Amino acid sequence: MNRLERTLGLIKPDAIEAGHIGKILDQIIQAGFRIIGLRMLHLTPAQAEAFYHMHRERPFFHSLVSFMTSGPIIAFVLEKENAVSAYRELMGATDPAKAEPGTLRALFAQNIEKNAVHGSDSPESARREIAFFFPEMELLSVKTPSSLLV
Ligand code: GDP
Repeated sequence: MNRLERTLGLIKPDAIEAGHIGKILDQIIQAGFRIIGLRMLHLTPAQAEAFYHMHRERPFFHSLVSFMTSGPIIAFVLEKENAVSAYRELMGATDPAKAEPGTLRALFAQNIEKNAVHGSDSPESARREIAFFFPEMELLSVKTPSSLLV
């Protein structure tokens, strides 16, 4: 079943440091997603811990928080039919060594932690994560310019 859906994406500090912002956003646009919210910010440790709280018991949690606060990130909201799974497919597997060729992580990730991009893993996560970064009124007022639609 196809239905219009929203998902939350991030460009992580490694990909920004490496100069990949433009290439990543271009691939997202070329894949037919509408970008309906976009902002650059630098997370505090408390904000990164809150965003990844479901991973707080994992052995890599502190390393992940340290990485995610090491530089600015870009947060964006995407809209497309089945956006959550479609964007997960465009990103590729968490570990770039296992990511399909041509996916964002195969192209731009360095390793399983510094893996360039984030995408919500379910519609429920997407709702929580979109609200974490964007007030609803900002998204509803956005009209994507036709030059950004393929
Ligand atoms: P995702 O949904 O593909 O981003 O993967 P997860 O939700 O499982 O993990 C969240 C993030 O934690 C990943 O995107 C990585 O940045 C990091 N991460 C996941 N697994 C590992 C790991 O085994 N080691 C380290 N150092 N980081 C990891």
